[in-house]
Amino acid sequence: MTHKMRLFAAALVVVLSAGFMSTAHAQNGPKRAITKIAGDLYRFQNNFHFSVFLVTPDGVIVTDPINADAANWLKAEIKKRFDQPIKYLILSHDHSDHSSGGEVFADTATVIAHENAKATIIGESRPTAVPDLTFSDTMTVSLGGKSVELIHVGASHSDNLIVMNFPAERTLFAVDIVSVRRVAYKTLSDSYFPGWINALRKMESIDFDILAPGHGPLGVKADVAANTGYMSSLYNGVLKGLRTGETLDRLKTNLTLDTYKDWGRYKEWRPLNIEGVYNRIQLQRRAR
Ligand SMILES: [Zn+2]
Repeated sequence: MTHKMRLFAAALVVVLSAGFMSTAHAQNGPKRAITKIAGDLYRFQNNFHFSVFLVTPDGVIVTDPINADAANWLKAEIKKRFDQPIKYLILSHDHSDHSSGGEVFADTATVIAHENAKATIIGESRPTAVPDLTFSDTMTVSLGGKSVELIHVGASHSDNLIVMNFPAERTLFAVDIVSVRRVAYKTLSDSYFPGWINALRKMESIDFDILAPGHGPLGVKADVAANTGYMSSLYNGVLKGLRTGETLDRLKTNLTLDTYKDWGRYKEWRPLNIEGVYNRIQLQRRAR
């Protein structure tokens, strides 16, 4: 073996063992982490889902529990790191992959959600705590000299999605309606148009710097406007196609939305996004 070959073989071993390590990690359980966003605002990761929590001298405000196991892990970590009780749990919307596990925090926390979320959580037997407090448009939660503004952005992604603005931390927590340089998720289940676009515009009018989405990396305020651009091009492109008699298959081929071709999941999810909007408009037509 030459020196170069030995080096190559050594490098290969490193790459292979790194591969094995990440596989082993995945088999050992979910990837969980707590990272600081700004001030006393933290981000909680459970695999591909994220929420945030705010630590104050009078207790902690947590948001989406994600699921019961994740919530139990987070509850123990908060106890260990901050030794503060959890006073509020705020749900971004009713969907189970974000809202499940609320009962873990409900022993000490007041549970808050949009009024439509409460009806769906009860009506569809979601595995979470039933909200104690609901609101229709906006609500401010204050604790220990800090605050979070809850804003219902209208029927958009679900009919009960709220975004959470942490003014002192200059951060907006927004779930499933916005992501950082990535197209929307698959066929946009439980979505409303043009409400989704109106909701993004409403978010653009909020004063903040850091965008904390429910999936993927942190971003900045400009990412919201970029999402408005993408969703508007998608929606208007499908409307125009329907008006000129395009089939769904032709739309999937022709509505290329080239401006966004470098965004994540563009190849796999752009056609599904088109299908989702197309089917939703057809449903609305039939309902009339
Ligand atoms: Zn959702």
